[in-house]
Amino acid sequence: MEMIDKLISDCECELVDIFKIIDGICYENSKKVLDAFHETRVSASDFNGTTGYGYGDTGRDKIEQVYSLVFGAEDAIVRNQFISGTHALSVSLFALLRPGDKFISITGLPYDTLYPVIGITENDSSLKAFGVDFDYINLINNDFDYEKIKDSLDGVKLVHIQRSIGYGNRNTICIKQIEDVVKFIRKINEKIIIFVDNCYCEFCSLKEPTEVGADVVIGSLIKNLGAGIANNGAYVAGNKDLIQLVSERLTVPGQGKEVGPSLGQNRNFLLGLYLAPKTIVSALKVKALTNLMCKKCHIDTVNSNLDDIVLGILFRDKDKLISYTKSIQNSSAIDSEFTPCPTEMPGYDNDIIMASGSFVDGSSIELSCDAPIREPYILYQQGSLTYEYGKLAVRCAFNKLIEKGDL
Ligand SMILES: *Cc1c(COP(=O)(O)O)cnc(C)c1O
Repeated sequence: MEMIDKLISDCECELVDIFKIIDGICYENSKKVLDAFHETRVSASDFNGTTGYGYGDTGRDKIEQVYSLVFGAEDAIVRNQFISGTHALSVSLFALLRPGDKFISITGLPYDTLYPVIGITENDSSLKAFGVDFDYINLINNDFDYEKIKDSLDGVKLVHIQRSIGYGNRNTICIKQIEDVVKFIRKINEKIIIFVDNCYCEFCSLKEPTEVGADVVIGSLIKNLGAGIANNGAYVAGNKDLIQLVSERLTVPGQGKEVGPSLGQNRNFLLGLYLAPKTIVSALKVKALTNLMCKKCHIDTVNSNLDDIVLGILFRDKDKLISYTKSIQNSSAIDSEFTPCPTEMPGYDNDIIMASGSFVDGSSIELSCDAPIREPYILYQQGSLTYEYGKLAVRCAFNKLIEKGDL
């Protein structure tokens, strides 16, 4: 047996119990999805969408009902008119905040693409340019800084929590932590809107943030819940009055959720959500496998827990990071002959390198990895539509490092 195959089979033996836990979470989330389909009475005619204004799109309306049930929320908006997760976050922040309002992030600086949205980098269209004030509190030891939060809530309209790590160096915020901080904030102020960026975390746990008291939760459909089937889009789930505001900002005041054509996407959204629990199993197993392979090869990792699908691989070396990224690209089914190289990307301050040979452009529920080119050279790997395709790619990437004598 080749060295690489021995390494993988050793890891798989050690991971048997963890894989069982992941399968168990999948079972519970599958039940949640199926129950929601039944309660909403999804039928084949719901695949037929609308064009134009999108009036009376019953399939679209049922998708939103299914999402509210899955999230244990009063309402949801799930639309292909959201370009991306960032767009849904931006629309929601603009919908819920007004000139003179203040909001704070309690998970440190938010995801890079939100800098121009918030005005952390100057932008004439930012929240800051509209008179919305922002501040942030860093995490301490991977948990909320409760003391600082307590002292900072005065005059705050909305608290922003980002669960996944973005291009950071910390652990994902788990559901228990959200539950605890929601209780803590509610004791001080019942009215503050608790707003959660749930990207990459859906269905990794038994519960979602809205089930433990968050007011609004947001994520991208080219990540977990689209399962590689949705061609674009995002969801926002939460309290009815807040979803109303978000819908009127996405579409038109006075029209809200009543308009917005689904343009043939209803079936993809439904099938994506249906497959999502199992797709996330693949992504989590590839994460666990990669993490253990890194350990055995003395490469440090970041965020190795199973609360989201992203693993940070701490290469500490630009060339190794680029070599690994190339191997992942070369193992993709699509654009496998492409060579990724670091470039400027809209919304990001550093050059970014990205391997994403995917069926949907930029999809990161498909196996992909990306990194800002900056110290300490952490590569963020996520996804895989099946465990086997992920394993093949990781096998190739590690084998290359072994061949080059980099391990
Ligand atoms: C991916 C991501 C987003 C938004 O991503 P898009 O690429 O705009 O869909 C926001 N926050 C976090 C933590 C993310 O991982």
